[in-house]
Amino acid sequence: MEAVLVVGGNRGDVGRTTALVAELLERRAGAITARSKIYRSAAWGFRADDFYNCAFVVETTLEAEALLDTLQDIERLAGRDREAEQAEKRRTGERYASRTADIDIIFYGDEVIDTPRLTVPHPLFRQRMFVLEPLCEIIPDKADPASGRSVRELYNELKGSNKGSNR
Ligand code: ATP
Ligand code: MG
Ligand code: MG
Repeated sequence: MEAVLVVGGNRGDVGRTTALVAELLERRAGAITARSKIYRSAAWGFRADDFYNCAFVVETTLEAEALLDTLQDIERLAGRDREAEQAEKRRTGERYASRTADIDIIFYGDEVIDTPRLTVPHPLFRQRMFVLEPLCEIIPDKADPASGRSVRELYNELKGSNKGSNR
């Protein structure tokens, strides 16, 4: 199955972390068949240092939930500390906390998944320029299986709506 992932972080050397994530994806999830540049943007949904994001297409034999397990392992190996994030969220009252690496599943083939652990396509990707911009670079013609709109259309719509900035 072709999975589309977006990796993002705003702690540590995100360029190096992304390279490590790519290596671990190849080893544990499957071959990377496309990857975008790394894009910098303001934190989305909370006040924090800028984020660096990168999109990957991975050809995987893992089922969606097994892929999620693997991605969460890779996040940990890349230094993500969920306990520290919980503590930071309690302190700041924000919905999100800074992290070394977040890896979200944007698409899993053309499947629409809605389970307690997994919503695919990712429920917020249509509102996020930091997702749509790297996706537009590598898979502009991919149709969102939920809305039927292409990545390029979603990107242009968000850009036109003036919510394209991350604030
Ligand atoms: P956001 O989902 O708004 O980007 P986040 O990525 O910071 O937030 P996490 O703390 O990484 O959130 O993940 C919280 C939970 O989201 C995970 O435990 C996972 O079960 C769930 N989840 C649901 N859908 C997805 C998806 N498409 N990709 C990754 N995680 C998902
Ligand atoms: Mg996320
Ligand atoms: Mg996540």
